[in-house]
Amino acid sequence: MLVQTDGMSEKEAISVIQKHEQTIQELQTMLGILQKRLYVQQERSNQMEEQLERSKRQLFYERSARSKAERALRAERNGTQSPHSLVAEIECKRCKLMFSSDNQDEDACRYHVSPLERHCGECGRWSIANSEVVFCQKPNIPCWYDSYRWPCCGMTDRNAIGCKSGKHST
Ligand SMILES: [Zn+2]
Ligand SMILES: [Zn+2]
Ligand SMILES: [Zn+2]
Repeated sequence: MLVQTDGMSEKEAISVIQKHEQTIQELQTMLGILQKRLYVQQERSNQMEEQLERSKRQLFYERSARSKAERALRAERNGTQSPHSLVAEIECKRCKLMFSSDNQDEDACRYHVSPLERHCGECGRWSIANSEVVFCQKPNIPCWYDSYRWPCCGMTDRNAIGCKSGKHST
């Protein structure tokens, strides 16, 4: 924006410039504070979204485990199978789902081979999503993430289901 200096003395013009300079600095400070707050909120909402996705997958998994157990029970009642033993539920180290310790299905676990990366809309850098807060070099404010990617498969949804499958891992 141009500062209107017509009919002003040099001293007046300088004071106008200084006033604008001060406003700019105040706004930059405010912007930094707001971006930090936004970052915290964004991280919280991401965590909740992840939790939601995990619960959805757990639900899907539980439903298929239930029908599997029901089939086993029917077979047991028909005398075609030995009594079904109760097995403990354990958490998979990789996909974080709870699963029965007797589940050795080759495709039960879905996962990505590379860690999730995030893109800063401010400085344009990519960083590992689970790393510490990354700061933009200039100005010194937290990076603002506008997009994500899984380098292994190119998917851009941060909750995209794994591109590889295998047995659950303990
Ligand atoms: Zn798993
Ligand atoms: Zn992937
Ligand atoms: Zn940045």
